[in-house]
Amino acid sequence: MKPGGRTDNVKNEVVARETNEWIRATAQSFGFGEAPARYICECSAPHCPSIVTLPLAAYELARIDGRQFVICTNHENPELDYVIWQGEDFAIVQMLPGPPSRVARDSDPRISGRTAAGDLFP
Ligand SMILES: [Zn+2]
Repeated sequence: MKPGGRTDNVKNEVVARETNEWIRATAQSFGFGEAPARYICECSAPHCPSIVTLPLAAYELARIDGRQFVICTNHENPELDYVIWQGEDFAIVQMLPGPPSRVARDSDPRISGRTAAGDLFP
């Protein structure tokens, strides 16, 4: 991986997704069901402090494809993402084809046996 390149920038999105998967599992274990939950923005900006609130159904829609991420509206990085759905408060983006897209797909925590972000970015 080239330091500072597009593949390096995908790290922020992959790590945020892992955190959000923990948030989702925790909300589910407490019986929050379909209620909207607060997730961290999965954009490529390092340590983006923004929170996105969305219903479980929308979150699950984003998780269908390992190349997709949930971000605050207008947080997309045109060098990495294209917007596939946009609402008032949040958007779902998909990685553009290329190495970042492969990293995103290969680190999808929903596909068993895939590599965790910690392994991809030691
Ligand atoms: Zn963001």
